[in-house]
Amino acid sequence: MPTSTSDRFYLDLLRAYVDSADDAIFVLCDELKFLFCNRVMERWVGEPESALTQHNQRVSITRFFKDSADAGRFLSHFTKTLHEAATNRFECRLEPPRGLPRWVEFSLNKVGLEAGQMVIGVARDITKHKEAETSLLKLSSAIEQTADSVVITDTKGVIEYVNPAFENTTGFSQEEALGKTPALVKSGRHDRAFYDALWSTILRGEVFRAIFVNRRKDGALYHEEKTITPLRDGNGRITHFVSTGKDITERMKDQERLDYLAYYDALTGLPNRNLLHDRLGHALDHARRQEKRTAILLLNIDNFNSINNSLGHDVGDRLLKAVAARLRASVREENTVARMGGDEFAVLLEDAGHADNAARTAHQLVGDLAKPFLAGEHEIFISVSVGIAIAPADGNDADSLWKNADTAMHRVKEHGHNAYRFYSADMTTKIRERLTLRTQLSRALEREEFRLYYQPILDLRSERIVGVEALIRWQHPDRGIIAPDEFMSVLEESGLIVRAGEWVLRAVCEQLQQWSGLLREPVRVAVNISGRQFADPGFLDKVGCMHCLLKGRGRCAGVMEFEITESVLMNTDLATIKILKALRENGIRLTIDDFGTGYSSLAYLTRFRVDAVKIDRSFVQDMIANRDAAALVEVIITMAHVLNLTVIAEGVETSEQVMLLRNLGCDMMQGYVFSPPLPADEMTGFLEEGRDRLNRVSSSD
Ligand code: C2E
Ligand code: CA
Ligand code: CA
Repeated sequence: MPTSTSDRFYLDLLRAYVDSADDAIFVLCDELKFLFCNRVMERWVGEPESALTQHNQRVSITRFFKDSADAGRFLSHFTKTLHEAATNRFECRLEPPRGLPRWVEFSLNKVGLEAGQMVIGVARDITKHKEAETSLLKLSSAIEQTADSVVITDTKGVIEYVNPAFENTTGFSQEEALGKTPALVKSGRHDRAFYDALWSTILRGEVFRAIFVNRRKDGALYHEEKTITPLRDGNGRITHFVSTGKDITERMKDQERLDYLAYYDALTGLPNRNLLHDRLGHALDHARRQEKRTAILLLNIDNFNSINNSLGHDVGDRLLKAVAARLRASVREENTVARMGGDEFAVLLEDAGHADNAARTAHQLVGDLAKPFLAGEHEIFISVSVGIAIAPADGNDADSLWKNADTAMHRVKEHGHNAYRFYSADMTTKIRERLTLRTQLSRALEREEFRLYYQPILDLRSERIVGVEALIRWQHPDRGIIAPDEFMSVLEESGLIVRAGEWVLRAVCEQLQQWSGLLREPVRVAVNISGRQFADPGFLDKVGCMHCLLKGRGRCAGVMEFEITESVLMNTDLATIKILKALRENGIRLTIDDFGTGYSSLAYLTRFRVDAVKIDRSFVQDMIANRDAAALVEVIITMAHVLNLTVIAEGVETSEQVMLLRNLGCDMMQGYVFSPPLPADEMTGFLEEGRDRLNRVSSSD
């Protein structure tokens, strides 16, 4: 124990020195109990030294470890210290009941004094350091485990670190990447300007974000959504760049697929309406600036529906693909070929030059597409109708150009397909007229302004009237009687023909009933039925009603026959076939009208039986002057007879034609040579007077 004054002085000095230390300093006896501790230790444990070192009640340091593992660790190091001379350094967590918990680095040293063995300890607070260490650990394991690839480079771009996600994404291992630059995954898809922008941004200390197209080790490209962030040291100097990237290749693929579907036709792979519309818009902008002409050619396949219906949709699809391929091959690469939908295609001539060029292209397309197509075992011939509109004359914006090409195309259709036509302003007038006509026709139907005229059909040998054909007329309040040529196409197009056809059937029935009271023999009435009526779900019922009405009369009032066109028979639609069967079962005879103008093939007649064919009047009229026409009429008659069909010639105007037809073995005829179509009462007169009177008219002609 200190006694002298100088001892006292040194002791106080030592005490002051120990108390001024930043670390906790303490002395423990060999039983772990406190013999001494400085101020720092007092503060940490929240108890004064006097309490810790009180005689006979000394406190053991183990009281300040809450976790038994910490206490155990301390004890083992303490014991080791007592047995070895060396300094023992270790970390432990101090959690005194009255103080704050903290991480502490202990260093213990043994001293042997007279009073016995003791251990001097110094404890340093390493809590901050420990926390930093754990959060760093968390951070680095997060970087190691994240799905995003992380690359750290120095300021020159040399790679110092890559995480496992980088290895997975790129296929390059850490060893392969370290020391290289990110040019390792460069794809060549970005230009200099892109990389210049990248470097200038990050060297300025700003964050650079972009979608990179990079290349994996195996050569495959991938899309990466990347963020490159500069790292700064304590002085604000940039020391590193951290790049994090997300592989968005799948997302991009989905997007590309969506874009593809939005802009391309899935069947043919051609640009679709949207893309063409975009390109047309650009082309027009461009053309305006350069004072050039842009042309749009709109192509529609004629009668595509009958091909689809008769050969099936598979063949139809194959045909559309083949047409697409042929179109693409026919026009120069800088011109867009698009599929507008259905059987409609378009060609955009961005720099059409003179209108002649557009005409030449159209002419060539019509010709190219006229060559046969092979779809499976089918050889198919098609024709197209092409409408052409040229900017700026026919419109300055995509929509009006478009509409006008469409108008021109429809004009081609009206005039018999297989041709091209330029738009002209009076077409719009025509369309407007047709729209007005449509409204008027609808009103005419409501007001019952239609009438039926009847034209006799004669047996060529007996020269007796065997029937009549019912032909519609419009009794216009101002214009008088109007022939169907003027309105039939509008009735068809608008679908009003379904209502008009129903009216015709009813009117024919009423007429037949009237005639049944007046005439000695029943009359056959041929009724023209439009193809669109076959698509009317109520058609059979309507026919059935009329038919019952006729049959229900005590005396047979007469018989209805239907005249249909070849296109109806070509239709292999189940509904159509069902209707045709039902009609035959009801005893309704069927005649093919306008024979020779359509498919000119009797092959389909073997599939479905009809009773008669009516040779189109164009052949009858050409017959005398044109040997080919006469030969064709002869072939038709011979073939029809082989198939047991009656042959009727329509539009017979001269006795020369009568003679020739009789010689060729034609069965019946109809035409101005005998009588034009007549109003019902006049026809009644003829029929009442007996059917031979007409014969006299014809013979005296
Ligand atoms: P279509 O069925 O070929 O009718 C024959 C047409 O030839 C009739 O014209 C008739 O007046 C005309 N014609 C008769 N004899 C001669 C002749 O010797 N020389 C000439 N050049 N022509 C003659 P119309 O009545 O104007 O009918 C035109 C077309 O309108 C008909 O052609 C038919 O397709 C259609 N049509 C008429 N009525 C109806 C109907 O009630 N329903 C349906 N769906 N179509 C009808
Ligand atoms: Ca007819
Ligand atoms: Ca006809």
